[in-house]
Amino acid sequence: MPPGWLRTSVRVFPLAHGLANTFLPLCYSSSLSRTALARCATSLSLRPPHAKHSVSLFAPSPFPSVYVPGVKSCFSQFSPTFSLCPLTSPCHSFTQLSFISHSAQAMNLPDILEVLEQLAPLSLAEPWDNVGLLVEPSKPRLVQKILLTNDLTVSVMEEAEVMSCDLIISYHPLLFKPFKRLVQKDWKQQLAIRAVEAGIAIYSPHTALDSVKGGINDWLIGGVGSGSVSVLRQAVSSGPLCHKLEFTVRNHEELETVLSELGDRGTGVTFSAARPDSHAYSVRVSCCDSALTSVVQTLWQHSTPQQSLSILPVSKQPLLGCGVGRRGTLDEPISIETAVNRMKAHLGLKHLRLALGAQKTLESTVTTVAVCAGSGGSVLQGVTADLYITGEMSHHEVLDAVAAGTSVILTDHSNSERGFLSVLRERLSVHLDDSVSVQLSQKDRDPLEVM
Ligand SMILES: [Zn+2]
Repeated sequence: MPPGWLRTSVRVFPLAHGLANTFLPLCYSSSLSRTALARCATSLSLRPPHAKHSVSLFAPSPFPSVYVPGVKSCFSQFSPTFSLCPLTSPCHSFTQLSFISHSAQAMNLPDILEVLEQLAPLSLAEPWDNVGLLVEPSKPRLVQKILLTNDLTVSVMEEAEVMSCDLIISYHPLLFKPFKRLVQKDWKQQLAIRAVEAGIAIYSPHTALDSVKGGINDWLIGGVGSGSVSVLRQAVSSGPLCHKLEFTVRNHEELETVLSELGDRGTGVTFSAARPDSHAYSVRVSCCDSALTSVVQTLWQHSTPQQSLSILPVSKQPLLGCGVGRRGTLDEPISIETAVNRMKAHLGLKHLRLALGAQKTLESTVTTVAVCAGSGGSVLQGVTADLYITGEMSHHEVLDAVAAGTSVILTDHSNSERGFLSVLRERLSVHLDDSVSVQLSQKDRDPLEVM
């Protein structure tokens, strides 16, 4: 055993993230022995849901090359794609050894839902939306085939049935309005029933995918050129509204009494106490909206906390880069004609509809662009930009934009969204096991065509 080899730790992180998000508490007090490595690898291979992991071992540097063959042979038995990447650690005193593990296990639905949640957290969806798992088969089964579609139509369902699909990820939710019966006269309910009978799950990310950083709207605005991009309506962290309560207690005894009574009031209360002088304690308590009344009632039973109590609302944190719509300033201004051509190429369309802003020509300059995938009329209303890009706007919304000097590109609703499915497919394939195939629907298309 080389001197100084006292501890080894293992980090696991999904390849796409590039940063460690899980730290396994595997610290070995022994050397980086074959047994310890085997234990690491065994633990890792059992970890769902990510089938592919980049795994790094950190060992004291320099890593003696004489040990490389031993390490390799140890990991190779667990992963044929094992590779050593020495000296890439951000910590200079360590050598980082990496390998990529491929789990042989297929994935079940909850594992895939976890990946989808990572790619587009459902908490980002609009409150009016109906996102997430919409149809769940009664019998759990391993997911091997996923079909991606913008809209789940009858022909897409036929496609899913023919390919023995296990999960349909439909960007737009198939089920949206509440219903009291499941019958055949509604085409959406028909499809939901067919999915249930075929054991096919249906998932919709919809506005979560619009909002997330790097999602549909960032992809859409990226088509017109590079530049700085901001969010039109900022997303904030989810969760119940919080309050911070500050008060003092006279002594340690009162502190213990108050905290114990607060603890009895249930969960959702956290506290910290400091003693700025030798007499009183200054206490901070955080609680969610629903616990506020009960916490205040408790504190009012004690005179010092009651007299010193102040309550502060805690603002929700903005989720930078996430939210509704995007507005960008191009690094290099372009003409309206160039913008049209770039968007045609980006979206793979032969035709777009263009409304020139008042006093504008095809040669007029575009520096600022605002986009909203799908139906952007209400989101873009009043936004200052040279050009709007969206799927659809009403006649009067277009007239308003034109009068304000803003030109408008309309692609038809789903043509502003569908192209992102290829990006989503790539992202899924990075996160999912190799045994799961992700296909783009061949039947999915915008119902409108320019003749
Ligand atoms: Zn849409």
